[in-house]
Order: sequence, then structure tokens, then C-alpha cells
Amino acid sequence: MLWDNVCKHIHAQIGDAEYTSWIKPLLFKSIDNGTILIECPSLFVKHWIESNLLRTMEKAFKDCLPDVKSIHIKLAVNSNKKNKSNDITNNSPPTGESAPIATQNVEARYTFDNFVVGKPNEFAYAAALKIAESPKVQFNPLFLYGGVGLGKTHLMHAIANRIKQVNPKRRVVYLSAEQFMYEFIKAIRSKDTMSFKAQFRNIDVLMVDDVQFFSTANATQEEFFHTFNVLIDNNKQIIISADKSPSDLENIEERLKSRMNWGLVADIHPTTYELRLGILQNKVEKLEYNVPNTVLEFLACKITSNVRELEGALNRVMAYAELVGKEIDLDLVIYALRDVLRAQEKIITASDIQERVSEYYGLKRSDLKSACRRKTISRPRQLAMYLCKQMTPMSLPDIGREFGGKDHTSVLYAVNNVEKLKKIDPNLSKELDTITRTLNAS
Ligand code: ADP
Ligand code: MG
Repeated sequence: MLWDNVCKHIHAQIGDAEYTSWIKPLLFKSIDNGTILIECPSLFVKHWIESNLLRTMEKAFKDCLPDVKSIHIKLAVNSNKKNKSNDITNNSPPTGESAPIATQNVEARYTFDNFVVGKPNEFAYAAALKIAESPKVQFNPLFLYGGVGLGKTHLMHAIANRIKQVNPKRRVVYLSAEQFMYEFIKAIRSKDTMSFKAQFRNIDVLMVDDVQFFSTANATQEEFFHTFNVLIDNNKQIIISADKSPSDLENIEERLKSRMNWGLVADIHPTTYELRLGILQNKVEKLEYNVPNTVLEFLACKITSNVRELEGALNRVMAYAELVGKEIDLDLVIYALRDVLRAQEKIITASDIQERVSEYYGLKRSDLKSACRRKTISRPRQLAMYLCKQMTPMSLPDIGREFGGKDHTSVLYAVNNVEKLKKIDPNLSKELDTITRTLNAS
């Protein structure tokens, strides 16, 4: 049968471990007009396959049946999505004498239950949850990355908290890269690197947060690399976070970067309006504080930089209202946050987008406005149009005008095309993401 043959092809390509983890759980549903429909048990598996195995699958299908045009992976209807019920929020932070370093820093309030899931973070969330709940090491290391204040530390602590709950015997060590450096340097000074190393010998899970803070290649990185390898070889789980992808990290040795790329790399994207609103709603609900929805919507709309700032703004509004003894309304918010709001007033224009896109692809601004159909130019042009649609309030005809007087139907075509390609071309999503980040950061 087709599916069996395809599976054999894939199996030969990717080996036992990956095959068992990702392909086995899939269910072949149908083939219709060249389109394959496959059902998968969880969002997590779906994402993983879409970002890592889609090409391999496509090739395997085409080898078996040349007519195959595309593959759709659908979530099974009865998939058990989130596991909410067994989250105990008031569990005390793991202190544990067994783990000698740093674990006492785990924050009890950073749980999976308190983490609001939306499009930008669902993959990272699913990966973190999987690691916390599965007794076996599935992907190693887990590399979480994303801009500041988007929830990396929260997820790491949530993993630690959950592990303490489901399997208190597992020894978890959480520390920042800076702490790692500090502890190591301290050990060197006191000529006691042996006991530094020994601390890691008996742990089950090591988390190192913010590895971008490892300063230039030095003995600490050497030591980390060593610890890392020993733990991986012994099948212990490692979780690392950074503000950039492994390949974009500066100051990190190549061999360490490539090791960090081995496992699962999950990024947290900048927040969307829906996620920001969800986070605010969740927060006021937990605090049992009465804040009108219009105020939350206003904040979600205005404070777009990151979750930390968003929470800060809400806290400030609540504190201010307490102080002056007034109910929270829009006027009060605008007054309490006047300086924050001014700072957030950043408007992205078509010209900013063109500048970043042409810079990114090494083109001239005029290329984007030209009628040239060469792919090296038309693809970036379509991306730029797409970004204008996403990031500015411009209409399709407005956008067309900014690109050398193109018709609004060409813009629409570009937007739709990029939407479509995004689903099948992981590189494209990465490129868009990088460009969006630089636009938001500038
Ligand atoms: P990072 O480590 O990526 O810089 P943090 O994990 O410290 O970010 O998150 C900053 C703040 O925002 C924390 O208080 C965290 O609880 C909160 N936060 C971030 N993302 C979410 C989310 N999805 N749901 C709820 N709170 C969040
Ligand atoms: Mg952090």
C-alpha cells in the first residue's frame, strides 16, 4: 500500500529514533487529486513535521507516486490538546538538597497553567510541556529562543515546576549562563573545579538560561561544552535559552553552536494582539481585579513590545488607581502611562519595510519598485508587500503605489502567495521573522 511504501522510504532516510517519534504516530487518511491528507495526534507533532520533515515526506511520496502534489497535515479531532487539570499552582519551589546549585531560584508562579498560549508561543509551549511530562528524553537539547520578555524563563521554570510535581526524584538544575560562569570562575579561583564538575554528575535535567551572555569563547564555554557533552552522552535532558537562534549567536564557539542545533530548536515569536489581550485577561482574572475590557484592549493594542512591559503597564495602572482611589478607566490609564505610551508610538512605514527587506536580501530599494520578474527580486518584493499588509494599516492600492505603481490585484496575489509559501517553506518563515524582528527593534 502507498503509505507503507512511503513509510519505508522515510524510515530509510531518517532512522529509527526519528521515525518512531514522528512518523509512526501519523495516520494516512486519503489522497484526493494529488493532495495527501494525513492526520497527526498533536499540535506538537504537526509543527515538528512541518518544520523538519515535510520535504522528506514529499520526496518519499513522489518517489512512490509521481502525481502527488501536496501534503496536508491535520490535527486529529480527538487529540488531547492541553493538559490543564493537573496543574497545581501553589506547589512550593523545589529546594532540594540533592541539587547543589541554583535550583532554589525556580519561581513557583511560573507554571504552565499561568502561561497563556497563542500562535507565537504554542510550539515552544508544546515542546516544553512534552519535556516536562515525558519520562524519556526525546530531543536533546531543547533550544528555546526569542526576544526579551516573551516567556523563555517562564517556560523553563514551568518545566522545573512540573517535573517536581510529576517526578520529584528527577534532579533539575536551573541556572543562568551568568551564574554558570560565576560558579565556574569561583571554582577556578578556589582551585576546586573538581567539585564544580561533580555537581553536574548526578543531575537529570540541566537548564541554562540566556546563553547569549556567555562572553567570548573561553574556559567557561569549554567547560559548558564538556558538561553538555557528558550529560547528552548520558541521556540527560538539557534545555537552553537565548535571545537568538544558535546560528545567530555571537561569542559562541562554532562547535557549541552546532551542538545546540542538534536537538529541537523552538522559537517564541513576538506577541500578537490576541495573545497580549489573553495575557492581560488571564492576569486580572487571577488577581480578581476589576478592569474594564476596553482598558485591556487599549493596553493590548498599545503596549506591543513584550509581555514584561505589558505586565508592567498593567501593574502600574492598578497601582496608580489604588493610590488615587479611583476606578480604572481609559482616562486614568492614559494619564498613568503617558510616558510609556509616548515611547511605544512607533509607526512602521512602507519605506521602513522596503529598507529592511532590500538590506536583508542585498538589493536596491529601486529593485523592489521595479517590474523585474527575476525570482531573486520578485520574491523579496512579495515579502515586502506582505509585510506592508501585516505591519501597516495601508490598503492594497496604497501598497501597490509604494511599489512602483502596481495594481492592487498584484499586491493581493503577493500576500496570498506568501501566506501559502509560509506553510511549506520553513526558510521563508525564518526570513520573515528576522526581518520583522529588526523592524520592531529599530
Ligand atoms: P524572557 O525570559 O523571554 O525574557 P520571561 O519568561 O521573563 O521572558 O517573561 C517576562 C514576563 O512575562 C514574566 O513575568 C512572564 O511570566 C510573563 N509572560 C511571558 N509570556 C507569557 C505568557 N505567554 N503568558 C503569561 N505570562 C507570560
Ligand atoms: Mg529570561
